[in-house]
Amino acid sequence: MIPYSRQFIDKDDIEEVVKVLKSPFITQGPKTKEFEEVVARYCGAKYAVSFSSGTAALQGAYYSARIGKGDEIITSPLTFASTSNMILACGAKPVFADIEIDTGNLDPQDVLKKITRKTKAVAVVDYAGLPVDIFSFKKIATKHNLALIEDAAHSLGASYKGKKVGSMADMTMFSFHPVKSVTTGEGGIIVTNDKKKYEKLILFRSHGIIKDSK
Ligand SMILES: *Cc1c(COP(=O)(O)O)cnc(C)c1O
Repeated sequence: MIPYSRQFIDKDDIEEVVKVLKSPFITQGPKTKEFEEVVARYCGAKYAVSFSSGTAALQGAYYSARIGKGDEIITSPLTFASTSNMILACGAKPVFADIEIDTGNLDPQDVLKKITRKTKAVAVVDYAGLPVDIFSFKKIATKHNLALIEDAAHSLGASYKGKKVGSMADMTMFSFHPVKSVTTGEGGIIVTNDKKKYEKLILFRSHGIIKDSK
């Protein structure tokens, strides 16, 4: 039988986890920041904010893009449930555009047809690790003033025409669930080059609590 997933965890990984377990912080400590910096640098993005899952990260991204009640987000029907479920969690409506038969990814031409006055964002999915044609989606997003969110749960490490996944969309989500390329057990991250969105993601993660003494 082909297993659903089989993670690879070696001695180094276990030693690193034990070090954290013996440290003062077992969540949201200095290792979190270190991890975020490594992922951001690797993807060619300025900022990264990690979350408890890819699903939570998506919710943070939609929140940061100011998605709310009455808004529509165009997305792919061929994905894991949370791409759409987190749109619903924001009170918005997922609108499905069709996929391309040869890639399994959203068809930019069909996305164009689904744009209405309520459309606020496009959430593309790099299906099975194959990146979407990000240049076409960027053009559409810029022209129609939409946020471009990339569900890259499957595509950490991939590139499209020389551009690393994570360096192009407004916000890109990676998942660290054991069936993805790299695992932390459960976990997810958003990478972005936009300082305002980064600050909103941090705020979302901390329940709106600010610790800045100013
Ligand atoms: C796994 C996955 C998610 C959700 O990530 P979790 O870390 O499991 O919450 C979202 N979208 C896609 C395409 C996925 O494969």
